[in-house]
Amino acid sequence: AKVTRFGPSPTGFVHIGGIYAAMIDRDIATHSGGVYLVRVEDTDQSREVEGAQEQFARGFGYFGISSDENDENGAYGPYLQSRREQIYLTYVRHLLRQGKAYLCFATKDELADITARQQAAKVPTGYYGRWALWRDADPADVTAKLAAGTPYVVRFRAPDDADGQRARFVDAIRGRLEHEANRNDAVILKSSDQSPRLPTYHFAHAVDDHLMRINLVIRGDEWISSVPLHQQLFAALEFEPITYAHIAPLMKQIPGGKRKLSKRKDPEASVDFYIGAGYPAAAVLYYLRGLANGRLAEMPLETALATPIDLGQCGVAGPLVDLVKLEDISADHIATLSGPQILAAVREWAAEYDAELVPVLDKENELALRALAVEREGVDNPRKDLRKWSDFRAEYGFFFPEIFVPVDGPADDRLLPLGVAPEVVTAFARELVAGYEHGDDPQEWFNQIRSLAGEHGFAPNAKEYKKNPDAYVGSIREASQLVRVAITGATRSPDLHATAQALGASEVLRRLSALIG
Ligand code: GLU
Repeated sequence: AKVTRFGPSPTGFVHIGGIYAAMIDRDIATHSGGVYLVRVEDTDQSREVEGAQEQFARGFGYFGISSDENDENGAYGPYLQSRREQIYLTYVRHLLRQGKAYLCFATKDELADITARQQAAKVPTGYYGRWALWRDADPADVTAKLAAGTPYVVRFRAPDDADGQRARFVDAIRGRLEHEANRNDAVILKSSDQSPRLPTYHFAHAVDDHLMRINLVIRGDEWISSVPLHQQLFAALEFEPITYAHIAPLMKQIPGGKRKLSKRKDPEASVDFYIGAGYPAAAVLYYLRGLANGRLAEMPLETALATPIDLGQCGVAGPLVDLVKLEDISADHIATLSGPQILAAVREWAAEYDAELVPVLDKENELALRALAVEREGVDNPRKDLRKWSDFRAEYGFFFPEIFVPVDGPADDRLLPLGVAPEVVTAFARELVAGYEHGDDPQEWFNQIRSLAGEHGFAPNAKEYKKNPDAYVGSIREASQLVRVAITGATRSPDLHATAQALGASEVLRRLSALIG
């Protein structure tokens, strides 16, 4: 059984890469009969943003990725690092007593100076060897500094024999890896003039992962280079080593290459992008699973969602996030849903993002269901017009009298491109309205329009019209487009007869009447 964790930092932004990682954590815990937990990594309080916790709840809630443990039910908390101060301090003291850590009073200027001299000498920068001012300080100097109230950090004493050594480890994704051993005396506890006194990521994650009995750490590959330090910390703390799986970041295609999806530059880096546009969670998760394990992308959605992610099949190169691909997946998925399912989802999405739509949908529930049945119900290849819930308004908004903008007379802007003279439109529409019969049979319905169009000078077909354009006011195509624009407000729409059926005779008549002016 795997115990996994996700450690988001509350910076007020949930990165889609966080959902990706948490999804993998959740999946592996679930399929191994283990536990997945969320530990909020808020040790960098300067970066903390108000409302960040709510953002998490929203992001992870949308995707249904829930933590098995929290402060109410979990035995390994607190699950918020800033509330674990005393736990970290206990371990820091333990290392200090054992001489595995030391107080460092080096000032910012001194550190900058060390770096500058190292650069000038062309040696690796860092706090090590003869550059580590306080590593082997005289206890009397330390006592004096403490007595004077000088702020300090606590540094880990890298093993003395680290220089020239190699660190070897097995990554669950990348296999055997080897790095130079760490010889840098990393800061483990931040400055003593801060309150609360919090540890650095390196130290906090070691203590927490151990105490929270994590046995598989899945995290971004930017941490690979820190593994040598982490191994030393685990050894110094006498903790069992934990398996790491370093996942490659989600990437974006840019001209001439690719780069990491950027929180700053790319709106699609944020979960808000997906939630706000209304991509169904299942479609996004399916897409992300396919990015994690290519073979899952070959499976139908339901199967892929139920098939475990295999870390061994995660790529080493970051997968590209392709929104066009996601839209296709999402459209295919929505096409498998029933009208009531779609309506419920659109309604929920609109509650937050399109307030005007909510009362309309509530009031016109039946109409909405009829609209959503057009070219959907009982057909083999349902319409794929919705790629996300925010498409609903553009695709189906015209059905609803409350938000439909009727044609404004025979010279309406939407009719002009058809090239039919306004007097002709009026005359044709007048008779169409007077004799309108709302039949169930599409053929009869169209025949009615066709014969009236013929009486008003429209050619019976495009070929006839092309042969002798001057003899006609337009072709049957223009006549039926007039009807389409009147009924739907656009020159493209779902099947016109089915649309008219869904709208009902009186609404169709009302809309056709608008052509008269
Ligand atoms: N809070 C860390 C981050 O944001 C988590 C890294 C980890 O999962 O260990 O990168």
